[in-house]
This record gives sequence, structure tokens and C-alpha cells, in this order.
Amino acid sequence: MKQTPKVAFFDLACCEGCQLQVANLGEELLDLLGHIEVVEFREIMSEKWDGEYDLAIIEGSVTNEEAEEKVREIRRRSKMLMSYGACAVNGGINGIKNKTPMEENGRIVYGDRFKDYPSMPTRAVGDIVEVDYIVPGCPIYPPEFLKVLKSALAGLEYIIPDHAVCVE
Ligand code: SF4
Repeated sequence: MKQTPKVAFFDLACCEGCQLQVANLGEELLDLLGHIEVVEFREIMSEKWDGEYDLAIIEGSVTNEEAEEKVREIRRRSKMLMSYGACAVNGGINGIKNKTPMEENGRIVYGDRFKDYPSMPTRAVGDIVEVDYIVPGCPIYPPEFLKVLKSALAGLEYIIPDHAVCVE
């Protein structure tokens, strides 16, 4: 018998607005949950899965070493990886800080204590590891998220249409 795909949601530096879009899918989400097994989703459950993920879905950008290691670990354990939301796809709003020298960012935020909180440039998930699927947007457009998710679960390629906005 075919096994139900194990799907995990993760979040890095972000406002979690894209997760909210997923949570607000309502009936479509319930329908989807009948076809997948959600093994991690911090917003809605406390359980952790220590096995392999069929599909890992990451929201948020990479802004420190801990996040970088987390992304590498998720990639190691995932058959397929999706980044969703502008923060994860291209750094999003967190990437604005890359326009200013990192030391200056630290000073602006932490004043004289900036040395205790070293600032790293913001990176997208795809800057760290290979990503199989992306869903751009800030926040994501839920119908597009569902289309990409269904493509991933079916093992099909998903090409972002030419008219999409906010891809880069
Ligand atoms: Fe929030 Fe926009 Fe980032 Fe989604 S892409 S987590 S809505 S800031």
C-alpha cells in the first residue's frame, strides 16, 4: 500500500504571515490533510519527527548560523524541498538590511552593544541548499501554494507563470 507522504513545515526569520495563509485555507486545507501526514508544524503542533520528510516546506529567510545549519539539516532529511513566501524565496523584507553594511545595522539596532549581536547578511533558502519548488509572494497566494504543493506531491515540475509578480 502506498504510504501517506510525510510533510513538515518550518519557519525561519519571518512574520509567519505565509503560514497564516496556509492555516486559513479552511476546507481546502482539511481536504489536503486527508492526503498527507503533517509531521511537524510549529504553529499547530509540538511533536517533532526524527525521520525523513517526503516534503519539507520552509518559510522565512536565513539570518544567522543556526538557521543555516537548520536548513542544511532539513535538506539532508528531505526528498523534496519547497521554499514559500518572499522571505524564503529571495530574502524578502529581511533582505533590506543587505543594502547597509552589517556593522552599521548592528549599531542601528543594538547601539553600543552591537558587538554582542553580530549581524549576518540575509539569505534566501535557495542560497544555502538546492530548492525543488518555490512559491513567491508576500504573502503567498494560497491557490498558487496549493497548485505547487499538489505538483510536488505528484512529483511533477511546477513552472511559475511568466505573469507572476514578486519572484525576484
Ligand atoms: Fe511575512 Fe511576507 Fe515573509 Fe510571508 S513573505 S513571512 S507574509 S514577510
